[in-house]
Parts: sequence; structure tokens; C-alpha cells
Amino acid sequence: SRARVLVVGGGWGGATAARYLRLFSDGQLPVTLVEPDAALVSCPQSNLVLAGHRTLADLTFGYDALERLGVRRVRDRVVALDFDRREARLASGGRLGWDKLILSPGVELMRERVDGLQAAHAAGRVLQAWKAGPETAALRAQLEAMPNGGVYVLTVPLAPFRCPPGPYERACLVADYFKRMKPKSKVLVFDANPEPVSKAALFKAVWANQYAGIVDYRPNFKAVGVSADGREVEFELGERERADVLNVLPDMRAGDIAAQSGLAKANGRWCEVDFLDFSAKDLPKSAGVHLLGDALLAAPLMPKSAHMANAHAKVAAAAVVASLAGWELNPAPVLTNTCYSWVDGSHAIHVASVHGWNAPQRTFTVVPGGSGVSVGPSEAEAQYAAGWIESMRGEAVG
Ligand code: FAD
Repeated sequence: SRARVLVVGGGWGGATAARYLRLFSDGQLPVTLVEPDAALVSCPQSNLVLAGHRTLADLTFGYDALERLGVRRVRDRVVALDFDRREARLASGGRLGWDKLILSPGVELMRERVDGLQAAHAAGRVLQAWKAGPETAALRAQLEAMPNGGVYVLTVPLAPFRCPPGPYERACLVADYFKRMKPKSKVLVFDANPEPVSKAALFKAVWANQYAGIVDYRPNFKAVGVSADGREVEFELGERERADVLNVLPDMRAGDIAAQSGLAKANGRWCEVDFLDFSAKDLPKSAGVHLLGDALLAAPLMPKSAHMANAHAKVAAAAVVASLAGWELNPAPVLTNTCYSWVDGSHAIHVASVHGWNAPQRTFTVVPGGSGVSVGPSEAEAQYAAGWIESMRGEAVG
């Protein structure tokens, strides 16, 4: 029978890989995608939901077109992987086999690293909203319920984490909402890093100009605990801060299925791959297992972004199709990334980079002269950002 490819995770990396496996094989390769969610809910632009400029429905992308392309979708969760038998066990009890396996499970939030956070989260008091969906709506509701004059506290973990500019974009958009609707309110950002991890100068300028008196940014503050009522955060050196809405982002690591399968050994958190084909380094190449997206121990200066997951997916899909067809490829891939950040409902900034295959180092390194950031926020960049998500959506789910 024909070789089968199993893709685990229908987010930005996995959906794009499934789609490109069908395209690169001229629709010949049987591709199964396992994903528990009914649709892809986009993290990109989900900070706009917090400010009221988008709804979650705007960011919910169905899998129908992907299925019409011939991808078989299984709505389930993989609970175990048997690399010898090449078989995935599903939460429902079923099993799925593979000749090649692609995993793009995203990140897990390490709430256990902040005292009291698991309980405060379970009680719905301290949210993360770092996976778009119901928590995004719940955080929006907390902000709406907050009185004018209230304090929103956002804590940022040490890098690396999903979406380097994401927390700072969130600070801008919550400030935009306050400025319009609750002008006496404050946004306090406590960052474990010495400065914003991405677009530092641009974000600081926006806070100083557009959100003076609203956003207060404090570097080198690492959150270590939250109170039972979810209204107070404690930092490493013993300082405390009260909040009306507390949004604590803990450390992150590769998704559970990668960790449980012994594929997330780097610093005990991330998955290592051979970047030429994104095959898992912790298994022999002949195992045919590939990993993508945020779960990876990234190459130098490579962000955990949807754009990057999209690029990983295409390289891995090409490698899988070539390997199954017996084609000799001699690839030297070049990947691109752009991360747009909205600073209000109609202005955005960006950072862009080009990552070329570096054969001697067997990784991707930033191509000199290929990177850049905006001069400042503009309406044109907001239009590009709106176009970007349409392109990415088309690439992932068709
Ligand atoms: P995901 O997209 O999270 O997909 C993982 C999928 O795997 C999920 O659907 C999950 O349900 C599924 N899964 C996990 N475990 C299993 C299992 N055992 N069995 C089956 N399925 C499983 N990136 C950008 O490029 N631009 C942006 O503007 C941007 N903005 C962002 C804003 C915010 C607020 C956030 C939080 C992120 C943002 N990102 C942005 C980052 C982007 O969302 C991630 O980099 C991207 O989602 C990574 O793709 P992924 O495939 O690795 O993970």
C-alpha cells in the first residue's frame, strides 16, 4: 500500500505542512491530520480582540478547504507515540499508523513555575490567553469589567517564548482600549528580560508618545508567585504589585506529546532537529519523524512565530515528499519571517528577517543585510499586517 504521512497538530505549522504535502505530491500522498480543535483559532491578531477591534469569529479558520484538498482530518488528540511500530494512540482509543510523522504541537505553559498560578488559573482568576480561544474572550471580559482607574498588570517570562513581540503588542492594545474607554486606567508591564525582546526601541517610543501616563514598563522583574485571590503578583526579589486584572505569562516549553515521547530534551524544554529537513535529532533519521514550529529549540535569532512555523512546514513537507519519492534533493533553503505588531486599531510596526541555510554550521543563520524594522507605526503597515494574515491563512488551511 502507499506510504502514509501523519501530521499531529492542526495549528500554523501542522496545517501548512498537511496542505503542502498534498500540493508537493500532486495530491498523491495520503495525509492524515490529527487535531482536537474544530478550527484553527489564530493567535496572530488575537491581541486585537482584547482591544475590541476584532472578534474571535474573525480569527477562526475552518478546515473545510484542507479536507477538500484531500487531507483526512481526525478530530482527536494523540496521547502516545510508538516509534518502533510507527503508530500513534488517540485519546478516543483508536490508533493511526505512519511511514512519516510530522509533529507541530506548539507550546505548553509552565504554570507550575509560578507559585499559586495553577490554582488561580483553574479558578479563572489569572489568565494567560497565550493560546487564542475561550481564554482570549475571558481576558477581554475581565478588561471590560475593570473599573476606569483600574490597573492591568502583564508579566513577561525570560526569552525564549511564543511570539517575542506578542506581550508588548498586547500592552499597546490594552492601552489603546483604556485610552478610548477607561482613560484613568494603567498598564503595568513587568518583564523578566532586561528590555523588550523584540522591537524594543519602537515599542518604547510608542509607550512614551502614544501611551504616556498609561503604560509603565519595568524591566528585570521575574514573576514567581500570585496570591490566592489572583489580585497580587510577587517577584523574585520580594516586591509585590496589586492588580485589578493580572495577566501572568509563565515560561513555556514544547507541547506535551513531544515531551512525553522523549523529543524535548534541549534544556528540558525544546525539541532539537536537523534543520535541513526538520527531522528529530533524538531519533535515527530512518525513523522518519519531523518536528516544526514553536516546539523547536530555535536556530539563532529565529523567533517562535506563525510565519516561521509556516516556513519550517514547507521545508519539512518537501523533504518528506522527496524522501518517499526517492528523489535526490540538494536543498539550501532560505526562510523569511515578518512579525507585525499592532499598536492601535489602525497602525502597526514590523520586524523582518531572512534566515539562510548555513551548511558548515548545519543551521539557519540570519542573512546579513536582510533584516529590518519599521521607522515607526503607520497605517500602511496595518494594511500589510491584514494582508499577511490572509496569506498565512491561505497557506495553512486554503
Ligand atoms: P500552534 O499553532 O499552537 O498549533 C499547535 C496545534 O497542535 C494546536 O492546534 C493543538 O491543539 C495541537 N496539538 C497539541 N498537542 C496535540 C496532540 N497531542 N494531538 C493532536 N493535536 C495536538 N506569530 C506570527 O507570525 N505573527 C503574529 O502576529 C503573531 N502574533 C501572536 C500573538 C499572540 C498573542 C500569540 C500568543 C502568538 C502570536 N504569534 C504570532 C505566534 C504564533 O501563534 C505561533 O508561533 C504559532 O501558533 C506556532 O505554530 P505551531 O504549529 O508551532 O503551534
